[in-house]
Amino acid sequence: MCSIIGYASRSSVAPVLVDSLKRMEYRGYDSVGLATIDNGRILTRKGVGRVSAVNSSLNLITMQGQVGIGHTRWATHGGVTEKNAHPHYDCAGDVAVVHNGIIENYKDLRDDLIKSGHKFKSDTDSEVIAHLLESYSRKNLNIAQIVSNTCKRLKGSYAFVAVFENGTICGSRFDEPLIIGPADEGYFISSDVLGFLPYTDKAIFLDNKDIAVIEGKDLKLYDYDGNPLFRQITQVAWELGSIDKGKFTHYTLKEIHEQPLTIMKASSRNVEKLKLFCDIIRNSSTLYLTGSGTSYHSALVAKHLLSKFAKIRAETIVSSEFQYDLAPMDSSSVLIAISQSGETADVLQSVKDAKQMGAKILSIVNVPTSSLARISDSFLTIDCGPEVGVAATKSFTGQLSVLYSIIDELCNGCLGYQLSKLELVDALNEVLASEEQIEKIADSITASKDIYIMGRSIHYPIALEGALKIKELAYVHAEGIATGELKHGPLALIDTNSVVIIINPKDATFQDNVASAHEIKARGAMIIGISDEPDDSYDMFIKLPTVGRIHYPFLEVVPLQILAYYLALRKNADPDYPRNLAKSVTVK
Ligand code: GLU
Repeated sequence: MCSIIGYASRSSVAPVLVDSLKRMEYRGYDSVGLATIDNGRILTRKGVGRVSAVNSSLNLITMQGQVGIGHTRWATHGGVTEKNAHPHYDCAGDVAVVHNGIIENYKDLRDDLIKSGHKFKSDTDSEVIAHLLESYSRKNLNIAQIVSNTCKRLKGSYAFVAVFENGTICGSRFDEPLIIGPADEGYFISSDVLGFLPYTDKAIFLDNKDIAVIEGKDLKLYDYDGNPLFRQITQVAWELGSIDKGKFTHYTLKEIHEQPLTIMKASSRNVEKLKLFCDIIRNSSTLYLTGSGTSYHSALVAKHLLSKFAKIRAETIVSSEFQYDLAPMDSSSVLIAISQSGETADVLQSVKDAKQMGAKILSIVNVPTSSLARISDSFLTIDCGPEVGVAATKSFTGQLSVLYSIIDELCNGCLGYQLSKLELVDALNEVLASEEQIEKIADSITASKDIYIMGRSIHYPIALEGALKIKELAYVHAEGIATGELKHGPLALIDTNSVVIIINPKDATFQDNVASAHEIKARGAMIIGISDEPDDSYDMFIKLPTVGRIHYPFLEVVPLQILAYYLALRKNADPDYPRNLAKSVTVK
């Protein structure tokens, strides 16, 4: 879960590499490093912190050389230290390596390499790659053979890029993305097209076990047996313009405010694909939905709507649990996999498991060129543009918008979703206009250590999502609870220090929620109601506009996102880059 970039150009690469890493920092941001080749020597600078901070202290952009590689890390093995920051080296310092993923057998490899005289300098799993490349380099093999012999020794998931003193860049992948960007001045090799999009909108997506070798102006691809390979060039379209904070202080706030626009976009294209998607669902005998974190919460909302409106029972499985919970699937089963990035390792693993059993895979992604989109039988995009804030906001409502469109199509328009989208956009704008009031509420609960968010029915997943936002952004313990479960345990936690947020729209859940609110009130907790209907149990009230009932989830999540954002600011946390997290979780 990190970003890797390599570039062989006709001019100085360091400023370009630093910019690329900034654009890909969503993938991990605990430390940064660059290696460039200057007159046949490898230069390195690396340090702990975000790209701009490390660049300010180490002046990365002034590094000389027309060939180089770079990395932002999200540590899996070895602490967050300068020593463990990538690139890593072989003993002789002839090759520098950046790696994304986990080498599962690194301990055995490390022991073997140490026995044969190699000296390790870091605690990472990644360093074994550099020493393996070194040991095969000594054997008079060509570069493709050196890389393939190295890869054959690795177990786990990886994408790595290495640069040799002579300026040759090579790389390979297994279950982590690696993409070539053929640009005017030379070739990029990157974890994400965002790494090179300002320079080229063409991309070559490497498959598992492909080997890429970039020597000067030449790119060659090989398989593990050293046979030359050909891979298609894909044209990528991506709204780079929107990777800018605009008038907002943080990407997260900007992305929260983009939602009226992005939910419209999310389901306005792909009419034919949507029909195909629905045909595949109609023809299935069993339907499953999977996702991680926020995407799992959209799956829960969809499950509810599928059952209620399309009369289709679906099972939801958290992606990281999928492998332990293997539902019996066959060629008549369909798995809908949901992932913003389309690179989430747990989701990809679920898809592979389901495919092995013969199931059809439908996916909902934001990145149409992602691994998930490419391995699916069909996919729909949420088209919300790059989401930079690590905590998902606009991608969640984008996923809901696509899922609502699917269910609307499945029930022949019974949701009326497509027709009522303008009404929903107006209502969302109204909710966004209460930002100042929500900021004040954040002020009044800044000291609270536990926040409970409750809702019933389709609102329960929104309670889970709201709690997730507060945990991620503000580092406060928050729990989403199905309101009816209160009396089965959580009520024991409620006292005068508790803050309880009740999602309580005026629908079939309203009266039961009001009764629960009074039980909570009697225990002295502070209650914040989110509803279109006030109640005297609320100490604070966030008013929702009255809309068609199906729209409530969209409206309810927005105040919770704003609340989490302002709580983060009050705690001096960076809402865009929460500690210990990365946007795209590409490791298991
Ligand atoms: N496992 C490697 C490390 O801990 C790479 C992690 C990553 O993908 O950022 O350094």
